[in-house]
Amino acid sequence: MKTLLVIDVQNDFMPSGSLAVPDGDNIVPVINSIQDKFDLIVATQDWHPKTHSSFAVNHDNKSNFDSIEWRGKLQTLWPEHCVQGSKGAELHPELDTTKYEAIFRKGTDINIDSYSAFYDNNHLKATGLTGYLKEKEAKKLYFCGLASDICVYFSIRDAIQEGFECYFIEDAAKSLDLEVFETIKIKMVAMGVHIITSEAI
Ligand SMILES: [Zn+2]
Repeated sequence: MKTLLVIDVQNDFMPSGSLAVPDGDNIVPVINSIQDKFDLIVATQDWHPKTHSSFAVNHDNKSNFDSIEWRGKLQTLWPEHCVQGSKGAELHPELDTTKYEAIFRKGTDINIDSYSAFYDNNHLKATGLTGYLKEKEAKKLYFCGLASDICVYFSIRDAIQEGFECYFIEDAAKSLDLEVFETIKIKMVAMGVHIITSEAI
């Protein structure tokens, strides 16, 4: 049984969005083209309250992409993005979601950011995705979406820890920072993640 996890393919992460991932929209047709190869498809949405602490605008004298210490951890401050119920938080309109069985939302707690589809950044709260996937007897997880160096990577890292076999579909994902991604790719290989292209599914 093959499961596809479509991470944060949302308008705000597209080139015209508030937290644009370069060429983020290029992956939409690739994702649409592979979906028939999967038994189960689950998507995630970054889904923040407007007052979310990860937004620079909610801190005094801070700019986008500044780092602050927050609850004992370094936190990057982002432009306002994926606000609950906004157009920017919607999945890309051309993404074919017909076969999606579930959409997990994350980053809903004002005080905790959540890059991973499984846990918040401090590993305090689970989204319930592990339990859902185990109940569905999913073992092989294929990851695509945005951004490879942040939410996709943190999701894969947690999935490996939860005991899933993980595949990263490189041409169905894009990075915010290509240089950071090159380091992450090395880490993923060391963790046992299979890095593949959409043709190899
Ligand atoms: Zn976010």
